[in-house]
Amino acid sequence: MLTRTDLRSTVPGPARLRAALPRPELDVDGALHRVRPVVEAVRERGVEAVLEFAEQFDRVRPDAIRVPEAELTAALDKLDPAVREALEEAIARTRMAHADQQRTEVTTQIAAGGTVTQRWLPVARVGLYAPGGLAVYPSTVIMNVVPAQTAGVGSLVVCSPPQAEHGGRPHPTILAAAALLGVTEVWAAGGAQAVALMTYGGTDTDGTELDPVDMITGPGNIYVTAAKRMVRGSVGIDAEAGPTEIAILADHTADPVHVAADLISQAEHDPMAASVLVTDSPELADAVDAELARQVPATKHHERVATALRGKQSGCVLVSTLDDGLSVVDAYAAEHLEVQTENAREVALRVRNAGAIFVGPYAPVSLGDYCAGSNHVLPTVGCARHSSGLSVQTFLRGVQVVDYTREALQDVSAKVVALANAEDLPAHGQAVLARFQEPS
Ligand code: NAD
Repeated sequence: MLTRTDLRSTVPGPARLRAALPRPELDVDGALHRVRPVVEAVRERGVEAVLEFAEQFDRVRPDAIRVPEAELTAALDKLDPAVREALEEAIARTRMAHADQQRTEVTTQIAAGGTVTQRWLPVARVGLYAPGGLAVYPSTVIMNVVPAQTAGVGSLVVCSPPQAEHGGRPHPTILAAAALLGVTEVWAAGGAQAVALMTYGGTDTDGTELDPVDMITGPGNIYVTAAKRMVRGSVGIDAEAGPTEIAILADHTADPVHVAADLISQAEHDPMAASVLVTDSPELADAVDAELARQVPATKHHERVATALRGKQSGCVLVSTLDDGLSVVDAYAAEHLEVQTENAREVALRVRNAGAIFVGPYAPVSLGDYCAGSNHVLPTVGCARHSSGLSVQTFLRGVQVVDYTREALQDVSAKVVALANAEDLPAHGQAVLARFQEPS
């Protein structure tokens, strides 16, 4: 069922290896052409334009898009108690792991009387996007809000698409999750129009103001990703987190039933989702194919899953050794990597590139999607080579505070002057010397 790439005779060097691996045909630049008019219309005409795009893309035109706080608590009151309990557990676990990511201020004594202090200051106002197209993601509200709150962000707005079947409000579970997290500002806006609204601000039909944010985080489809790329600079953004992907590095010890179930679980997100198996065992590859043939028709979203598994972005890569498998997964740099091999813990320690690593048979990606404590907003399409998933750090800015006494400056002044002259910037040196020269 999965298209095979056979690298058993040789694993090519980095450039050819990257080209040989399954990848989505994600044309973010193409999507930029589509979202540019959306972003510009919202910049010029604000909420009026957001409402027009809601009608066009979400098939609903809400009367107003700011969700009243009373509706957040009402949604929580009506929430299925089992879902509420699960959300509370997910929030508690996510808060636990993120509390330990908090940064502390460090002062370094550079010389007698000279210090540099590294301070960490939270971004003042952030906009968090919770997708709501093919599926709704209350879990993503948790994964965005918890690190921002832990970092000390003072002002948070959540945007999520209006749902026609819920009177133009975001899905009630999104509203309930916001209420559980203590978020009070939620707007019904989706896609590129939500990104533009958070960037430029706007005024609702009843006069309520949405103040522009300093940073936008959260995953979304290709239009959300393209819009974030477009407004980057006007606001900060997190790493691009597009259609989800799973890679599984597995050997003959892996259970094909589990491997197939995990590949399907991520394919369920999106027809563009990527599911990739990397293995040194052709027998396992055959058994996983047989399992996929059995499990896919039985799953609820089988059409979406089958499209994702058949797409160019999914496949099975055969290698001759586990070492070669590690080279392949490092080149692929998956958003989620499962290691289902003998000595999985040791193998996982050797992985360099992945958004998050799931070790052994009892840490499926679905656990990380909801209740592991880890964050599920992670870099996709190879961005894990240079970027991290959402964390407390995402919402902090490092500010260095330089504090030198007269003597400490004088001690190093000749070196500053020498470097300033070497760069032909003598006024730099003079700014130091002026402090030690007698007025003429
Ligand atoms: P979404 O909220 O991202 O997108 C829905 C919005 O897209 C709509 O409100 C609409 O405004 C806009 N849209 C739809 N068609 C359009 C068009 N033709 N032109 C312009 N805009 C259009 O929800 P989604 O579509 O379900 O996508 C969610 C994505 O987020 C999935 O790919 C999922 O895999 C991904 N995801 C990723 C992570 C991660 O951490 N990487 C986590 C959760 C979800």
